[in-house]
Amino acid sequence: MRAQPKASHFINGAYVEDAAGAALHSHYPATGEVIAKLHSATPAIIDSALQAAAAAQADWAARPPVERGRILHRAAQIMRDRNRALSELETLDTGKPLQETLVADPASGADALEYFAGFAPTVTGQTIPLGRDMAYTLREPLGVCAGIGAWNYPIQIAAWKAAPALAFGNALVFKPSEVTPLSALALADILTEAGLPAGLFNVVQGAGDVGASLVGDPRVAKVSLTGSVPTGRKVYAQAAEGIRAVTMELGGKSPLIVFDDADLDNAVGAAMLGNFYSAGQICTNGTRVFVARSVLEPFLERLIARTGRIVMGDPLDEATQMGPLVSAAQAEKVMGYIARGVAEGARLVCGGKAAGGWFVEPTVFADVTDDMTIAREEIFGPVMSVLAFDSEDEVIARANATDYGLAAGLFTRDLTRAHRVVARLQAGTCWINAYNLTPVEMPFGGVKASGVGRENGHAALEHYTRVKSVYLGMGDVDAPY
Ligand code: NAD
Repeated sequence: MRAQPKASHFINGAYVEDAAGAALHSHYPATGEVIAKLHSATPAIIDSALQAAAAAQADWAARPPVERGRILHRAAQIMRDRNRALSELETLDTGKPLQETLVADPASGADALEYFAGFAPTVTGQTIPLGRDMAYTLREPLGVCAGIGAWNYPIQIAAWKAAPALAFGNALVFKPSEVTPLSALALADILTEAGLPAGLFNVVQGAGDVGASLVGDPRVAKVSLTGSVPTGRKVYAQAAEGIRAVTMELGGKSPLIVFDDADLDNAVGAAMLGNFYSAGQICTNGTRVFVARSVLEPFLERLIARTGRIVMGDPLDEATQMGPLVSAAQAEKVMGYIARGVAEGARLVCGGKAAGGWFVEPTVFADVTDDMTIAREEIFGPVMSVLAFDSEDEVIARANATDYGLAAGLFTRDLTRAHRVVARLQAGTCWINAYNLTPVEMPFGGVKASGVGRENGHAALEHYTRVKSVYLGMGDVDAPY
């Protein structure tokens, strides 16, 4: 076992095993090799994690915010010091190339720890003058939060939830995706070494049933899910039963619009990053690339040439630019969509073939129309759809004609047009002359079916704290009886 952790779960500051839980294996997607054998959480494990979190939270919330921040700062530093080992672990668990994980995964997790470490001591309430009397507000933590992760950015997702939750005085029980269970445990190690008291960050393993047990537990005040829209609907509904707060970071089918005056090389580069990075397994990907008809041919020419040069191979080789899909099931699903694209009449101009094991070639379809399945459904693989457009109004209407609303991007040299168009795009995050950059300073999240709530930036405060209003009477009580 190349990546066997000490045990499956991390509860109350220690690794815990319960062999009664169903077997859960982690595979290296490049070879299919089993790299770790774990167990899903039993009800007893879930209960002990929630109990530990509930017991630890009040003391943590009572600490001075600088003290909480100091621990998170230390954790960020340890994470950066361990960047290579953590990146290798993430590559083994996800199949994403080391070239990416070395710069994107633990690094963005460390950014979140650092950002919220500094944010914690700046949180204040308001004073509200009311004449003789006054009121003030307190920002309070929510209590015990449950985090549920997807498999595409495991350590980033864990850190993006843990950092604000902990910074603002909450405790967290985190369930990673059953496909990528490993790096959340590494984050638990780091937080513990940094001095986080036991019980505040707990990891329980398992699939949707374990997630559902967390969502339905009365000890949980808030649920933050990163996952697909169908899962989001279930989790949101279950959380509603208990009137629990939610953040839903869900899927997308985002448009990337290339206007006729765009810098074409930049637009091609962004379209490739927004479709092939992480083998296309990114929620914000610009999978519907709308290109102005007048520049369609040169755009496609450059895109095809550059896509043909993408280096696929062993993700642990730093020269590799694209790895496999995360699982056999995901590779199969993506190949199914490629077959649908061909069957529905899209023109395959690049790739389109399975490349052995769980690898799928970077694939580009041209002549895609809005009604085709590949233009409507989230594929979550390296499949780009290129669609032609003629006018600004038309492309905005087509870009918005989807249930999703996670992200959108556009390339133009006309700044007036850029802001005019962005104002009309139905998306939580928009990029102008860039794509898929998600710095922790910037709020992140979707509209429409792509989600509710925001992660990162100042916006995260709203989703990991609540406001208490305090009215302060300064005189006699004016009672009419
Ligand atoms: P998924 O919906 O299958 O699973 C997500 C998580 O939810 C997993 O941990 C899973 O075990 C858990 N889960 C499943 N059913 C559950 C239930 N009933 N109750 C509680 N938990 C349950 O998603 P996935 O295949 O792991 O990830 C890919 C999806 O995630 C894509 O749709 C992608 O767009 C989305 N995603 C969104 C963001 C974002 O920030 N918006 C980021 C990454 C991925």
